[in-house]
Amino acid sequence: MKAMVLKKICNLRENRQPLELMELPDPVPGEREILVRVSACGVCHTELDEIEGRTPPPHLPIVLGHQVVGRVEGKGSKANKFRAGTRVGIGWIYSACGRCKFCLEGNENLCPHFQATGRDANGGYAEYMTVLEDFAFPIPEVFSDEEAAPLLCAGAIGYRSLKLTGIRDGGNLGLTGFGASGHLVMKMVKHKYPRTKVFVFARNPKEREFAKELGAVWAGDTAERSPEKLDCIIDTTPVWKPIVEALRNLENGGRLIINAIRKEEVDKDWLLKLDYPAHLWLEKEIKSVANVTRRDLSEFLELAAEIPIKPEIQLFPLEEANKALIELKEGEIRGAKVLKMV
Ligand SMILES: [Zn+2]
Ligand SMILES: [Zn+2]
Repeated sequence: MKAMVLKKICNLRENRQPLELMELPDPVPGEREILVRVSACGVCHTELDEIEGRTPPPHLPIVLGHQVVGRVEGKGSKANKFRAGTRVGIGWIYSACGRCKFCLEGNENLCPHFQATGRDANGGYAEYMTVLEDFAFPIPEVFSDEEAAPLLCAGAIGYRSLKLTGIRDGGNLGLTGFGASGHLVMKMVKHKYPRTKVFVFARNPKEREFAKELGAVWAGDTAERSPEKLDCIIDTTPVWKPIVEALRNLENGGRLIINAIRKEEVDKDWLLKLDYPAHLWLEKEIKSVANVTRRDLSEFLELAAEIPIKPEIQLFPLEEANKALIELKEGEIRGAKVLKMV
């Protein structure tokens, strides 16, 4: 099969071709696994973190990609959940142990043996992949393959972030950073919390325009003060400045959710600007969001179909994965980038 393969960790400012197009043997499903013929795979900011070594794959080479849509083409002897031809999706959660205290309490996203698709096991930047059948999800009919792909990460993690904010209808929500996850969160909020006002912080004027088109009541730069205090804010930026600035806009007792698997080091000195009375006093909270559970994925897919959420997408052929990654790195974002296999 054809695959775009990461062979070594590198700096994307120096190497603009981090992945190599290779011919690999088709993967063979294990006992409880299915073989999926991939038709679309979303491109995610986390891939930049993997390539640049902030969350490095434990083994190289590896096939990246954790927003995978495809059809079941084969299965192991003990896999019986899906019929051949069924359309399935695979997200960031590739597997978890099922036995630890986190798994038993439904927090498999925190499992010490959590394995991520496209980091700890080969993912969807390829024509085929294998996965345990229990970690694949049927895709609601209302979506095309390429529409469903970005829902599997940006959407699911956005859904989990929104749950963690604890927002109530009518509360003010801030979004700092407005990429793929931000625009999906906006659509969820409009549906689930119709009286909630959304305030968007983004450094790129195009993103701010886009946010207003989607229904933000206000959009400004990451360092601006919002016209009203915010009960909760979700941060999806890769850096520190937006967090420090966001804390000033938080209402007393408000909560900031950091939806980023890793932060870059470039502006870490912004943290020294933290002013306790202005940024943290009065019971402001900071909480990160880590990974997703299977429950997040199923609940979110159902919600997305009901609304329905149709993400804005930009298609690239598999061979142009590097181009999509570089554009993402350089902030060329309008909706979600998706690789489409022929
Ligand atoms: Zn992702
Ligand atoms: Zn576990």
